Amino acid sequence: MGKKTTHKFKAEISQLLDILVHSLYTNKEIFLRELVSNASDALEKYRFQSSSAENGTDDSQPLEIRIETDEEAGTLTVTDTGVGMTREEVMANIGTIAHSGTAQIAKMAEEGKESLDTLIGRFGVGFYSVYMVADEVTVKTRSMHPDSPVIAWTSDGRTDYKLQELDEDMPHGTSITVQLMDDLKSQFTNKDHIKQVLTRHSNFVNFPIMVGDERVNTVPALWREPKFQIKPEQYAEFYKFLTYDSEAPFDTMHTSVDAPVQFNALMFIPPKSTDFLTGMNRDNWGLDLYVRRVLIQRQNKDLLPEYLSFVRGVVDTEDLPLNISRETLQDNVLMRKISSTLTKQVLSHLEKMAADNADRYAEFWKEHGSIFKAGYMDFLHKDRYAKLVRFDSSALEGTDSLTSLAEYVSRAREGQKEIYYAYGASREALALNPHLEMFRRKGIEVLYLYEPIDEFAMDTIREFEEFKLVAAEHADPAALNGFETKDEDKQDVPELNEEQSSTLDKLMARIKEVLGDSVSEVKVSARLSDSPVCLSNPDGHVTSSMDKIMRAVSKDTSIPVKVLEVNPDHELVRNMIDIYTKNENDPFVEQAARQLYESALLLEGYLTDPHALVGRIQSLLTQSSGWYVKAEK
Ligand code: ADP
Ligand code: MG
Repeated sequence: MGKKTTHKFKAEISQLLDILVHSLYTNKEIFLRELVSNASDALEKYRFQSSSAENGTDDSQPLEIRIETDEEAGTLTVTDTGVGMTREEVMANIGTIAHSGTAQIAKMAEEGKESLDTLIGRFGVGFYSVYMVADEVTVKTRSMHPDSPVIAWTSDGRTDYKLQELDEDMPHGTSITVQLMDDLKSQFTNKDHIKQVLTRHSNFVNFPIMVGDERVNTVPALWREPKFQIKPEQYAEFYKFLTYDSEAPFDTMHTSVDAPVQFNALMFIPPKSTDFLTGMNRDNWGLDLYVRRVLIQRQNKDLLPEYLSFVRGVVDTEDLPLNISRETLQDNVLMRKISSTLTKQVLSHLEKMAADNADRYAEFWKEHGSIFKAGYMDFLHKDRYAKLVRFDSSALEGTDSLTSLAEYVSRAREGQKEIYYAYGASREALALNPHLEMFRRKGIEVLYLYEPIDEFAMDTIREFEEFKLVAAEHADPAALNGFETKDEDKQDVPELNEEQSSTLDKLMARIKEVLGDSVSEVKVSARLSDSPVCLSNPDGHVTSSMDKIMRAVSKDTSIPVKVLEVNPDHELVRNMIDIYTKNENDPFVEQAARQLYESALLLEGYLTDPHALVGRIQSLLTQSSGWYVKAEK
């Protein structure tokens, strides 16, 4: 047995230890994470060094971490079969300054500028965090290098530590015995509690963690394994473990990146959307961040943008310090690099899926499209986003069909320079939308939007392959008129003669008089064919649906003042011209004007009180049925 020597800690360490010993920090269990992580590092180093030829070792020690407790003595021991330390290494690693930040932490904690909680996270006090729970710590270690003696290091964590060479035999590695503080003894000698703590913080440590005979970390760090060695079942198992999902993932992305930053990522697209951006589940997204297999943060929200929040999984990097805090993570340059690489990878993955298998992509879109659409805010990837969004369209049949903007462009009519879209409650509603009559007549495709977010997306994309995105209701009828009408839709309506034309002008003036300030203008429409009238926006910038969103936001329940467009070729309007010619004051003109206006309001979703409208319909039906009965007789 060697002579026992006493060594003073460096001043900064003493200071730090003093703070830790007297801390009221509640999350004391993280000391175990730190010890296990050091053990894991030591095993990793051993594995690396023993794999090089000159250090070839012959022993058959299992590479593992053991945790033993002694209730009576009030101790907890963490043992690993890693590299171990020589006397000099012990002194250098846990006697002098181990972290350049130590002095700084001590200073900051002393000045009370930051809570210990933040500081432990930010700088990582690793080994010394054990003094939050320990009255005394004994480290016994033997280096893997041949003929290394066993070294014992003991300290109560106050001012000094004792070193001694022991005669006993032990395999390479390190064993750290923690003499627990009285009030923490029962907690940290309780095997079940320890297992819980380990599952919480160290579940994916890549070496077995044994508590007694039981291995605690049952799920290996799958993301670190070479891809070709992993079976789909293993991915599925891990996915289920991670998400508590009962089904296998829809898709798996497993990557390993070395530049510009090193990381491994294992990401999944779930088979079902969880709608976590609304309601209760709002925060339930994000990738778990590991640093060297040690969990740093669950559901980190900086690794992927919110519109990719349907992606679940883990990221593990070598390049971040183990104890980086959440605050520093947010504006960490490496994190930004990882995030930017991950985002690109997910987008590429989706692009490939869309190119290789449109049906599969449609399946993906059905579940996660609504969330993905929020990506219109990602200006950096605007072009890629525009290629990945899908819409229903007037050119498609059936309910499950989706088109990309590229497909729209490929179907565009010759000379067409714009992509048209319209917002509506459903396919059926849009098929009856008067604003789209012109498009139907000309056989020009219109994208059907059903969610408010779609319109924001359109506003942001603005242009696709030199096609401008234009709301159908803003399309210039004159430009559309240039396209030839589909034969089956050609209508043989006789032109208005001069007299009829001038009556039409007077009729419209009369309608304006009847409707007063509820409409800003009554004018002849160029876009209508099947409907007698429609309402359009006076300024022509905001679509009616966008207008509705803005009104909802500002809680404006008034009925907007719009332009009433009249279709002079419609039978009803022609009849009105005849009636007006016979008698300018025929009450039918007024009745019809109000009825047409309110029906148009109803179609646009603005009619809040249908009483007048229903009353008029009923009296018209009564009248017309009377004529019908008379005619029969
Ligand atoms: P870090 O792990 O960030 O380096 P720590 O304070 O946790 O900081 O540990 C300080 C150093 O002590 C480690 O870098 C390592 O060299 C040494 N060390 C700690 N625990 C062990 C162990 N179980 N086996 C070998 N070396 C260890
Ligand atoms: Mg450490």
